[in-house]
Amino acid sequence: MIDPFGRQVSYLRVSVTDRCDFRCVYCMAEDMSFLPKAELLSLEEMERLCTAFIRMGVTKLRLTGGEPLVRRNVMSLIEGLAQHLGDGLEELTLTTNGSQLAKHAQALAAVGVKRINVSLDTLDEEKFARVTRWGRLGPVLDGIAAAQAAGLAIKINMVALKGVNDDEFDSMLEWCGREGLDLCLIETMPMGEVTHREETHLRLADVRAELAERWTLRHSDYVTGGPARYVTVEETGQRLGFITPFSHNFCESCNRVRLTCTGTLYMCLGQEDAVDLRKPLRASMDDEALEAAIRRGIAAKPKGHDFDINRVAVPRHMSVTGG
Ligand code: SAM
Ligand code: SF4
Repeated sequence: MIDPFGRQVSYLRVSVTDRCDFRCVYCMAEDMSFLPKAELLSLEEMERLCTAFIRMGVTKLRLTGGEPLVRRNVMSLIEGLAQHLGDGLEELTLTTNGSQLAKHAQALAAVGVKRINVSLDTLDEEKFARVTRWGRLGPVLDGIAAAQAAGLAIKINMVALKGVNDDEFDSMLEWCGREGLDLCLIETMPMGEVTHREETHLRLADVRAELAERWTLRHSDYVTGGPARYVTVEETGQRLGFITPFSHNFCESCNRVRLTCTGTLYMCLGQEDAVDLRKPLRASMDDEALEAAIRRGIAAKPKGHDFDINRVAVPRHMSVTGG
C-alpha cells in the first residue's frame, strides 16, 4: 500500500473502544459521551478487518483506544491477531493506561506480544489522580511490574504539561533508567474539546534543551517510522523520545493509518479524511469491496496535519482515533 506521496503504509493502529476507565484532562471531558455499543464493530469484525490489512501489507499492528484493556474479551481479539505473527505480521503491540495490565500481562506475553507502551504522566499519587481524574497510580505501577515480570519491553508515554508535571522530567528519567524502561515525552495535541489545554501546553524543544544541561543526550538512529525522535541517555543507557507535532513536522515519513472502533479508517491523526470500512465489511463475506475501500483510503492519505495549539484541529477526541 503506497500513498500518493510515495509513503508505504505498513502500520495500522486500531482503537478497539472509545471508552476508558480514566478521564485524563488533556484527552477527555469528564462528562464524555461514548458511542452506543450497537455502533461498535464486534471483535470478530475487527479481526477480519485487521486480517485484510495484513494481507495487503500491514506488518505492524497496535491496539489502542480509549483503553484497549477495558473492552470485554479483548484478549480473544489479541489471540486471534497473534496467529498472524511470523506470517505477514511482524509486530503486535498495544498502548495502555496500565490500569488493567496486572491482569493481562502474562497472557499478552504468552501470545507473542513483545513490547507495550504504558501512559504515565507522573509518579506522584495525588497528581496522578488530578491528571487522570478517575485513575489511581498504585494499580498502574503494579501493571508495569507485572509486564516486566512477564518479559515485556515497556516504553512509558508521558504527556508534558506545564505547571503539572514539568518538575518531574528528571525524576521520571531516573526512575525509567532504574527500571530499564524507555521514555517518550509527548507534546499536547489539539484534538477534541477539553478545557485549559493551551495553558498547559509546553514546547518540548525547550524541555529537551533544558534536559541536555543535566543529562548527556546522544543522538540515536533508532526510528520507528513514527513521530518520535530518539536520543540515548548516556547516564541511564535508556532511550528518550520526543513527539513534537508543532516544533517538528514528522509527516514526511508517516507510515500509518488509523481504524476507529466503528470501522472508520482515518488516514491522518490531525485531518478529517476518512473512509467507512464497516459498510463494505458487512455488505459481504467476500473481502473484495473491503479491499477496494481500503485502497481508496490509502490513495487519499493527506500530506500532513496542520496542528495549531490555539484551535482544535479536529473535533474528535484522541480516544476515538487512538493516540
Ligand atoms: N488509554 C490508552 C493510554 O492512555 O495509553 C491508549 C489511548 S491514549 C488516547 C494514547 C496516548 O495518547 C496516551 O499516551 C495519551 O497520553 C495520549 N494523548 C491523549 N490525548 C492527547 C492529546 N490531546 N495530546 C497528546 N497526547 C494525547
Ligand atoms: Fe483514557 Fe488514555 Fe485518554 Fe487517558 S489518555 S483518558 S487513559 S484514552
